[in-house]
Amino acid sequence: MLARPRSSGTSRSIPARPGRNGSTSLVSIKPRQNLDSILVTVRAFYFDIQAWSAHEAERWAHWAAPCPIPHQELRAGAKRRRRTRERMADQTRQLQPLLPALTRYVEDAHATMAALLAAADTPPGEVVAVGSRIYRRLFTNADRRREQMHGFANIRFLDEATGKAINVTLAEDTMFWQWAIVETLRHTGVRIEELLELSQLSIRQYRRPNGEVVALLVIAPSKTDRERVIPVSAELFHVLARIIRRLTTGRPTVPLATRYDEHERVTTEPQPFLFQRHIGQRNEVMTTGAVRCMLDRVCLRLAEQDDRFTGLKFVPHDFRRLFTTDLVNSGLPIHIGATLLGHLNLETTRGYVAVFNEDVVRRYQSHLARRRAMRPQEEYRPTTDQEWQEFEEHFDKRKLELGNCGRPYATPCSHEHACIRCPMLHVDPKMISRLDEIETDLLARRARSEAEGWLGELEGLDLTLGFLVGKREEALRLSRIGPVSLGLPTPRGSA
Ligand code: SF4
Repeated sequence: MLARPRSSGTSRSIPARPGRNGSTSLVSIKPRQNLDSILVTVRAFYFDIQAWSAHEAERWAHWAAPCPIPHQELRAGAKRRRRTRERMADQTRQLQPLLPALTRYVEDAHATMAALLAAADTPPGEVVAVGSRIYRRLFTNADRRREQMHGFANIRFLDEATGKAINVTLAEDTMFWQWAIVETLRHTGVRIEELLELSQLSIRQYRRPNGEVVALLVIAPSKTDRERVIPVSAELFHVLARIIRRLTTGRPTVPLATRYDEHERVTTEPQPFLFQRHIGQRNEVMTTGAVRCMLDRVCLRLAEQDDRFTGLKFVPHDFRRLFTTDLVNSGLPIHIGATLLGHLNLETTRGYVAVFNEDVVRRYQSHLARRRAMRPQEEYRPTTDQEWQEFEEHFDKRKLELGNCGRPYATPCSHEHACIRCPMLHVDPKMISRLDEIETDLLARRARSEAEGWLGELEGLDLTLGFLVGKREEALRLSRIGPVSLGLPTPRGSA
């Protein structure tokens, strides 16, 4: 029997397992963030067994049991999902101002390592200055042995400021891919799986009717099982071109690499994937875990220089949220954003957009300005005395024998004053007796029409009587409720 899951959002402490000396300490456990997916999975498990047992009773019936998670638990999930969405929007607001610092850092870090790699010819023991730092060329006995065995050795430099030896060959490669990952994610907003599935074949050309050639990136189906195409911006094109140039250095084409799909648990056929690295003797596509680790390491190193990054990290999906927020806040219609992101539902895209307060104000003001521009200019002039008099007279004209007419200002009576039949008539409860008189009169006319055989008249009278009954019921209801005080202040001197 499964224990009922906790739905409270507070953390609590539980005693840890006793130590060797028998002492126990309290371990603080955090509430689960993603409770709903577990609840849905467990419910689906129970319902699947129940469904299977109906088809194959001899095999499944003895496993069938009532689901321990009631339906109400899932309904409470709406609140949890709202909280999750708020948390994500908060995180996006927190990360957005840090994105320029992150992109600058990955670019500078790679440029430094590339400059050191270019200075590989520096004799051992000599120093080289890159930026504001001094690096000393290292060449160890291990490097010498490696050079004798393999014909080349890793390039190493000593950072004079920190005293740390850097394997520049490895560091330059890592930092190039960190830069490429950050730039591709932030310019495309693709999911991590989609990023790793990008290949040289994903880049296509499209010639517009005016002859202009547009580069397109074909995103292979992942979560929504639908292929999509996104236009390649100049910045993104620069990143893709650098990746391809790197992969084709010393060879005519992008090498073929295999990719292990962690969800499908299969290895793909070799393809010219873009996010591949040479590992051991093989070229392999990076794993999602490796990409996450790279981003974590970038944020940790950055936190040493910039306090704003302390305790913060970017995960691949954060770039998707930042991309969406940026697109929508810069005026792109949300349905176009949904198409670029591969969302089938606009609500999903809306959930990705973190609205900034200043954006709300700016957008509302521009909405008002747009609406004003659409209205005739003469509506924004001061009211004349005559117009004001007409306005006041309109309310006098709405006073009728049976009550009040609710038609809006400046609209004519469209029912030819057949008020009993009109939905705009609000009968004053004081006039219910007048309704009775009208009803008596109508009934007398009805009897005469029946006697004379005036069938058309009879039909009209029946209709009016039906409306009259409805109006009387409404007036009686209002008389039972009585006047409701709205707490509005009375004009001075009227009390
Ligand atoms: S028919 Fe309707 S709109 Fe016309 S005056 Fe009577 S209540 Fe008003």
